[in-house]
Amino acid sequence: MAVLGAGIMGASTALFLARRGARVTLFDRAATVLAGASRSNEGKIHLGYLYAADPSLDTARRLLPGGLAFKALTEELVGCAIDPAVSRDDDLYVLHRASVVGVDDATRYYEAVSALVDQHAERAEYLSPIREARPRRLSQRDLDAGFDSSTIVAGFRVPERSVATEWVADRFAAAIDAEPRIDCRLRTTVTGVRGAAERLVHPLQVETDEGVDGPFDAVVNALWDGRLVLDASLGLPLPKTWSHRFRLSAFVRTTRDVEVPSAVVATGPFGDVKNYTGRDLYLSWYPTGLVAEGNAIAAPVPRALGEDERARLLGEIVARLGAVVTSVRDVLPYVASARLAGGWVYAAGRGPLDDRASTLHRRDRVGIERTGDYVSVDTGKYSIAPWLARQVADLLA
Ligand SMILES: Cc1cc2nc3c(=O)[nH]c(=O)nc-3n(C[C@H](O)[C@H](O)[C@H](O)COP(=O)(O)OP(=O)(O)OC[C@H]3O[C@@H](n4cnc5c(N)ncnc54)[C@H](O)[C@@H]3O)c2cc1C
Repeated sequence: MAVLGAGIMGASTALFLARRGARVTLFDRAATVLAGASRSNEGKIHLGYLYAADPSLDTARRLLPGGLAFKALTEELVGCAIDPAVSRDDDLYVLHRASVVGVDDATRYYEAVSALVDQHAERAEYLSPIREARPRRLSQRDLDAGFDSSTIVAGFRVPERSVATEWVADRFAAAIDAEPRIDCRLRTTVTGVRGAAERLVHPLQVETDEGVDGPFDAVVNALWDGRLVLDASLGLPLPKTWSHRFRLSAFVRTTRDVEVPSAVVATGPFGDVKNYTGRDLYLSWYPTGLVAEGNAIAAPVPRALGEDERARLLGEIVARLGAVVTSVRDVLPYVASARLAGGWVYAAGRGPLDDRASTLHRRDRVGIERTGDYVSVDTGKYSIAPWLARQVADLLA
């Protein structure tokens, strides 16, 4: 079988298929596996709280089962416990005064998501077992201690956590390396897929910049930012709307443990801080980190950033986030290293995040499309990739 794209989606799929006895060829244009968005993202393992602008709860319902299954499936795939990568505390969701969701609606939404979590049989399987999901409203004193009071109007503690994605990516790379049934074709750009007599049934072949590979019984397209180009070239239906956004964030290591809470500034084009281990942090400010955006079938090519510009963006992310999450500023004397990294976000939606009607405020239309022996996967979110990958393996078994 061929798996196209060695992000968390392709790597998980390849491992599940190989462990069921299939021989898998895994293609990626990068020099290593999990080199893209799957290495350098925030690693929030979604329970649904982020999508308060989708009060239908469709997004929360779509993301919840994959988020609850993430830990067990990832540990099965990488062969070790992932606890060292899990953020230390539950997330705080703090509402910006320009949030597209007001305090009352947000309160109702967080309570409704908590009810979904509480009713779910797998809730004890989450990164940190959930006994009771009820959101807890932060006192004004808690808010004043860590946030700018002229910007933040309310806050809630919810039982959501994140994983340090670089740590996880290294474990995936080792697992792929150790799997004799997976043949990695790295530094290889996929340009097309051919089926028998123009139909997408086996034997299938994969066209790359190196030549033609195959035959394969099945092909899985997990190319993320490169996925639509291939689907379109095969004449497959595309979503009504979509967008590609290239996002950068700051990954910071400190010289000592710091007390900054993991916090999401909700809901709109704001930022987040994640405190994974006390010394490894993720800082983002959405408008600063968004360096390329497009609505064409192919993702635009992000412009190259020089060292000066990277340093400027890094400084701006810290300054803008620190102006709202003021406790971030306490970290600055203890920064040992900081790097700017990120990747593509593909979404079957578009529109500015400061518009409540933007379809980017939903992630319910994600998942697996099968045509003959060709499977195309919109991962949607890092947090559901292992869960979707198991479904792809079940489908092709
Ligand atoms: C800044 C940021 C923060 C995020 N935060 C979160 C979060 O907190 N929680 C969450 O769940 N999700 C988050 N995401 C989204 C998450 O990162 C993605 O949903 C997930 O990583 C996608 O995984 P993937 O394997 O599909 O894609 P990728 O990891 O991008 O893998 C796709 C692979 O395909 C390869 N490729 C593409 N085209 C070609 C081609 N033509 N030929 C060969 N190879 C090709 C690429 O090199 C890449 O390695 C975030 C994303 C970003 C950028």
